[in-house]
Amino acid sequence: MRIDILPIPQMLKQQYEKAGILELYPPQITCVEEGLFDGRNLLIAIPTASGKTLVAEMAMHHHISMGGKCLYIVPLKALASEKYQEFSGKGVRVGISTGDFDRRDEHLAKYDIVIATSEKADSLLRNNARWLSGITLLIVDEVHLIDDESRGATLEMVITKLRCENPRLSVIGLSATIGNPEALASWLDGRVVESDWRPVELREGVYYRGCIHFRDREREIAQHSRFDDLNLCLDTVEEGGQCLVFVSSRRNAEGYAKRAATLLKCTDTALTRLSQALYGVAETEMGKVLAGCVERGAAFHHAGLSARQRELVERGFRDGQIKVIASTPTLAAGLNLPARRVIIRDTLRYQSGEGMAPIPVREYRQMAGRAGRPHLDPYGEAVLIAKGEHGIDELFEAYIDAPPEHVSSRLASESLLTTHLLSLVASRFVRNAKELHAFMEATFHAHTHPEGRRLARIVDRGLSYLEGAEMITGIGGMLEPTRYGATVSRLYIDPRSAELVTSVLQAQDSFSEIGLLQLIASTPDMYTLYVKRDDLPVLERFIFEHEEELWMPFSFEDAEAYFRSLKTALLLRDWVEEVGEGLICERWGVGPGDIYNAVEGVKWLIHATAELGRLAAPHLSAPIAEMELRMKHGIRKELLPLVQLRGIGRVRARRLFNNNITTIAEIREAGIERITSIVGQGIANQIFAQADGSGGEEERETKEERGGQSTLSRFGE
Ligand code: ADP
Repeated sequence: MRIDILPIPQMLKQQYEKAGILELYPPQITCVEEGLFDGRNLLIAIPTASGKTLVAEMAMHHHISMGGKCLYIVPLKALASEKYQEFSGKGVRVGISTGDFDRRDEHLAKYDIVIATSEKADSLLRNNARWLSGITLLIVDEVHLIDDESRGATLEMVITKLRCENPRLSVIGLSATIGNPEALASWLDGRVVESDWRPVELREGVYYRGCIHFRDREREIAQHSRFDDLNLCLDTVEEGGQCLVFVSSRRNAEGYAKRAATLLKCTDTALTRLSQALYGVAETEMGKVLAGCVERGAAFHHAGLSARQRELVERGFRDGQIKVIASTPTLAAGLNLPARRVIIRDTLRYQSGEGMAPIPVREYRQMAGRAGRPHLDPYGEAVLIAKGEHGIDELFEAYIDAPPEHVSSRLASESLLTTHLLSLVASRFVRNAKELHAFMEATFHAHTHPEGRRLARIVDRGLSYLEGAEMITGIGGMLEPTRYGATVSRLYIDPRSAELVTSVLQAQDSFSEIGLLQLIASTPDMYTLYVKRDDLPVLERFIFEHEEELWMPFSFEDAEAYFRSLKTALLLRDWVEEVGEGLICERWGVGPGDIYNAVEGVKWLIHATAELGRLAAPHLSAPIAEMELRMKHGIRKELLPLVQLRGIGRVRARRLFNNNITTIAEIREAGIERITSIVGQGIANQIFAQADGSGGEEERETKEERGGQSTLSRFGE
């Protein structure tokens, strides 16, 4: 089927033509036949890279040309940016919503396509963003993540809410191959498009003793080293391909990259440049190792990398310079980075509470699906590695020939559901028990458990908890939020976090920095750092020496959680004490990406704590608000006046301060020449442009949107 006969705007057709996309792929044709352009709801379950995003894009442009507006939900922030790039510049207005959780982002009303994570979409719904009612087409990327243990419930609630609010909403779910697509499709009142077609042939096999066993053939692998996993990689590189290797831990990823670098010995000027760029941003040992590996054509990739390191590695791989990336499975989930051969070296992974557990089939497929770059590779290979001869059949059975798992609802969890119940009541989505019941009936859980009573029991328990915590009242079947409940819902935190924060704050006479940080790190909303054996003496000593500053009582039953929260709090304290990133990484055995994640995670919770503190413990609200700002910038208190300027972060502010320039008035007094000598010409110009109030209309608007200042003079007075 040719693109030019489709009912999509001319401009989009031209863009596709320019990219060489003239004909639809077979599964895309099925989508059109099943009613893609007739407003039908669809569940599209086809492999990675077989053109799902393109189908969604065509549907959106068709909708927009008929006066519609689209919401595109993605699972990760990084994917939101990737899609934003992909959809922009094609004749429609594209917006991205990734800001704070307690905002409505009314400016998004002006976009034709809005891209948001499920959490952000949920928070917009809670805050009654009006523009959401104008959405006519909802696209849910990776809809199978409804089965995700921690985040699936939010996705299910968002879809249910949007559909309840707007029964005429069209929905397109994009999914990996799953065992029960009909169940999801019938919940969405849609049709299934299912296919295992791929643009590049995928060969799946198991390696054992010098040979890859495919279903219908075998392939000998030259033995360049004593490591099977390396030989597999070298073999691909020799024939001009690239490799992705999935391993179980960060340490394994780094170890693999080092071994590969030793053997690969690639040299070219582009690699040298890339490696120099990586040395330039390497503040830690890990960063230097990465740069060293890249110099020889190998890299590793995991959540400990900083955003810049990730970007450089991904670019180097896309451009074909880096020949192999060893990664934890994070890369498979988040990024479109195909390679000729994918090696899934480890099929066991540590899972908290379970020890080493086999990875699910769906995850295997997601990794295997990265094999084969369309238009570039003649085929893709996904290779598992067997430990013994039996392993060949076992791995075929467990992964290659295994049916994909079924997707099921994760809503029936008391802790997750309580949060969502509060949001339903607080945003007046439901006003009484009957409406709540009707809403629950519309969920995927109810759809797949028509006779089930479990959800109803959990709902009852959740409501009792919320009443007990005085977040809602339920008199005579009427459900109403209290002021406290409405605040908690708007702040987008777990009601149990709010209860913990409120009760602990109320019990304190005076402020303690570490007390506050550990309290926040103890809430169920905070992701805490893993505690290594080496950390324990440091943490124990800290407890001994600072007992009176700590607000959380030590619990022998849950010592691990206590240590984790304390370690996380201490790392965050280092951050606001301006300890260098390199030292933080060394001290706590983490990477720059972990610091970023911890700071990102806590920023929102400190904001929420500050708001709750205003109600519950006004005597602490000033120091909490101050900590909120310090955390945002990673600074000591004395730099607060300086970081209010655009372009001034923790490093430049410290440089100014060390030169005795401590306030905005002092900047003005010092004059542009002196400031240039400290922070460089570009930044100095930017600072003084703010002083003159000539920052430009556009910039001013964004700054105001963010609630910051627009000109230097407004703050300097
Ligand atoms: P998915 O979302 O399933 O991973 P995409 O829609 O991102 O897949 O498509 C993968 C790649 O294939 C993209 O580079 C896209 O431009 C290209 N592509 C998609 N559909 C076609 C087509 N019909 N013809 C040629 N290339 C296509």
